[in-house]
Amino acid sequence: MSEVPILRDYARAILNAYRNDATHMPALAAELERMEACHRNWLAHHGAAETGTADQEDFWRRCRSSLCAPCHTARTRDDAADILSVFLDAMDDDEEEGEGLRPTIVTFKNRAYPLDDAEQCVDDTITQWRRFSSRKHFKHAVAGYVRGVELMTNHENGTVYTEVSALMLVRKTSQIEHAGGWLKLWRKADDNNPAEKATFEQPDIDTREGYLSLVDFVSRVATVAVRPVHLCEEHPHGVVCDARKLKKIKAALSGRRLILFSRRMRR
Ligand SMILES: [Zn+2]
Repeated sequence: MSEVPILRDYARAILNAYRNDATHMPALAAELERMEACHRNWLAHHGAAETGTADQEDFWRRCRSSLCAPCHTARTRDDAADILSVFLDAMDDDEEEGEGLRPTIVTFKNRAYPLDDAEQCVDDTITQWRRFSSRKHFKHAVAGYVRGVELMTNHENGTVYTEVSALMLVRKTSQIEHAGGWLKLWRKADDNNPAEKATFEQPDIDTREGYLSLVDFVSRVATVAVRPVHLCEEHPHGVVCDARKLKKIKAALSGRRLILFSRRMRR
């Protein structure tokens, strides 16, 4: 079940790109050093886990860099656990209040930007979510939500785009359908620019299938920033990460609120 061998190739490629950037930007040296230590600790931890000498299955001293491969995987897992627990608490409260909230999952796939405009791409998405979620119809329909923003890359044509995924608690009295549906509302929040609805589901969590579908989607919401596999490229001679692209993507992600817990789903 070990994810280490696959992740290690990406982790190495990303570290090499950092080393390359750090030679031009001394400010990166400290972060690079922490990331190198993080990778050593992570590998040692997994080595210990395999021989049964580690105390905790999923802990090592992390660097918490936005682009570190092992930290990204660990952070996604932690956030998914938080989302599920906040969600279950909110559903318990709802059972007492009897409002009948429906768990609703949605992913919007946004338009592409040139990689050089990755910062604009992420900022526009965050602004779009702010407009979308402050509309009257949304506020009336949604009692609480968690939303995540993931940056996707298309290395073939040098573009990036975002996918926004949200788990929302939707009231029975929602007027969203009368307002034209979620996608229409989402597009309106971006001057009607084309975006696609990639996923939409209202699973019945009292069934096993519905619950599993929800748990699966929770990991989707928790996957924010950029996956190591999207940051890197596969070449016949191995996995590589382009230092110039890494710099652009890092700038686009740093300091942004990529995961947001709101209202009845606050952590
Ligand atoms: Zn790390």
